[in-house]
Amino acid sequence: MKISKMAGKIAPSLTRKLFNMAQKYDNVIDLTLGDPDMPAPEKIKKAACDAIDDDMTRYSANAGLLPVRESVSNRVNKIWGVNSSVDNVMLTVGGMEALYLSLLCTVEEGDEVIIFAPYYVNYVQMVAMCGGKPIIIDAYGKNGFEIDRRKLLEKITEKTVAVIINSPNNPTGDVLSEDFLKSVYEVASEKDLYIISDEVYRTLTYDSVIPKSVLKFSGAAERTILVDSMSKEYSMTGWRIGYAWANAQLIKEMIKMQENIAACVSLPSQYAMLYAYENDVDNGYIVEEFEKRRNFLYNRILKIVKLHCIKPKGTFYMFVNIKETGLNSEEFAERLLLEKQVAVVPGIAYGKKYDSYIRIAFTKNISILAEATCRIYDFVRTI
Ligand code: PLP
Repeated sequence: MKISKMAGKIAPSLTRKLFNMAQKYDNVIDLTLGDPDMPAPEKIKKAACDAIDDDMTRYSANAGLLPVRESVSNRVNKIWGVNSSVDNVMLTVGGMEALYLSLLCTVEEGDEVIIFAPYYVNYVQMVAMCGGKPIIIDAYGKNGFEIDRRKLLEKITEKTVAVIINSPNNPTGDVLSEDFLKSVYEVASEKDLYIISDEVYRTLTYDSVIPKSVLKFSGAAERTILVDSMSKEYSMTGWRIGYAWANAQLIKEMIKMQENIAACVSLPSQYAMLYAYENDVDNGYIVEEFEKRRNFLYNRILKIVKLHCIKPKGTFYMFVNIKETGLNSEEFAERLLLEKQVAVVPGIAYGKKYDSYIRIAFTKNISILAEATCRIYDFVRTI
């Protein structure tokens, strides 16, 4: 039977490939997906259970329940300091759906979207799913992400409609500098582009680093689409709830699309979000635990000859340079899984230039990370 050209063009990501391969082994340590092992906060769980017990589990408006949108709007106002109303907000099935709906409503066949590498792999696929062309800019170097305004301008054509930025960043754990954000903002303003700002890891930063948002620049709000979610902040990946914040006209279009895609976000998850945002539920225990894991993993990786990495400032990923092993990233990841049953993601999944990296997600506790790093050490020794 016929399969559409579009479906044929989209390949499963290497992240999922390694994750699926890992499931076939006993005693495997799977550090592939960005899926933390910690429980969600008790009170948030209770809010969702109460919604189920009280049968508040029907469909809602496509944009989400009004009080939940209000709570999001207040949060955006408070954290990002922009003028917000419910008309700027819609709830989405995770940050992913916010990204997808944003692209669906801004990208036309042949339009170009700027993506900085290394990137979250789904950006590239989603742009393609909307008929657009991802334009990749390699912006990561010895000092983290840096961009020369001129380099960015050179990549912009009359077909460019948007720039996607992600801070804190998956897969590097880097936090974009104010200079970087300013360049993006200035170029986007000059060329009249949308800025899709993916901030789903905003609260997961260490060493007192506070990530900045492009929304801090005056006039940025009208062209910025903010993507946020509960997945990483509250360890609620499977709850599938996030939101998009943007100008009211665009949000109206995105809500129209939502009717035809998911109808609305699951209601228990909406009540969970309402509780979390109205009560400013703290995720300190999650951040503290990740900071300990990051320090542990970083110190262990430093001790493995031939491996190098920059200490991540945020997220729960470490982007480790494996160049001195002489293996490319797929060879490294597949052999590590086969020989030592540790699953990581090959760097090439995040851009062509990153074939001498692997991404390790420190989503497992320290004793598991201790065992994983012993196995990685043994593996690297034998290469
Ligand atoms: N953005 C980035 C950079 C991510 O890494 C992820 C998930 O891994 C998402 C967005 C989507 O997360 P969710 O849809 O669970 O909110």
